[in-house]
Amino acid sequence: MPELPEVETVRRGLEATTIGYRITGGVVLLDRTVAYPDTSTAFLAGLSGATVRQWRRRGKYLLADLERADGTTCGFGVHLRMTGQLLWCDRLAPLQKHTRVRLFMESDQTTPVDQSPMDGRDRELRFVDTRTFGQMWWIPPGIAEPQIVTGLGKLGPEPLSPDFSLAAFRAALAHRKRPIKNALLDQTIVAGVGNIYADEALFLSGIRSTTLCCELTAAQLETLRQNVVRVLQDSIALGGTTFSDFVGVTGTNGRYGGIARVYNRTGQPCLVCQTPIERIRLAGRSAHFCPQCQPKR
Ligand SMILES: [Zn+2]
Repeated sequence: MPELPEVETVRRGLEATTIGYRITGGVVLLDRTVAYPDTSTAFLAGLSGATVRQWRRRGKYLLADLERADGTTCGFGVHLRMTGQLLWCDRLAPLQKHTRVRLFMESDQTTPVDQSPMDGRDRELRFVDTRTFGQMWWIPPGIAEPQIVTGLGKLGPEPLSPDFSLAAFRAALAHRKRPIKNALLDQTIVAGVGNIYADEALFLSGIRSTTLCCELTAAQLETLRQNVVRVLQDSIALGGTTFSDFVGVTGTNGRYGGIARVYNRTGQPCLVCQTPIERIRLAGRSAHFCPQCQPKR
């Protein structure tokens, strides 16, 4: 499942490819991918004629600012969920097997913004999604994003922003009798941290996944907060992880998987103390840890 670093990698890819391109139309091959408006026809009508000006990310949501011919702005939101991929293709490229939405694009610049031999025309942003949980929204002019993309309103602080402070982290966790791993996966506490990075940050902090939030000291919480930021930044620097179905917009894999310390390393020696990494079930997910470096309280 794409987590924050993968979504950020996709955002950067979209910034490098689609800016200045005007959406000329498209095809929705699976209606339920469109979460808003109610019909695919209204979705495509809303996007058509609008030019991509900027891509932002909030948690695992991708949000595009679009400018329409009359100068007004509207928006486009995407959540990749389990297996969604946004791919920047030539329009004539054969369709990938699980293509769900196609958005046709044309450069509105006289000079092509990318150096493709297609001279800036006949490009396409394609949404490929095997498991079909991915979602898209058209955000009409003048309407606040969280009114349409309702999940945005429930997100906790952005981990790579000053909002993710020790004070905020402590306030969200204090007195809570739930395992810290579950809290890290809770998008209302911190946005965008998933299974891989929660396991890695807990390992770097020497904290067992099952430790209850209320048992952690302020110093431990600060260490953990810093390590959450560190693992996300490290992964972004490597273009996201190699795991699951993740690819960037031009189809390349990330490289973070190769440096994961505990995630997916069950039975292999801990890189610090050689003790075999263990795996348990927690919050319906796998939790990986070193029993020596992450002692049980
Ligand atoms: Zn160890």
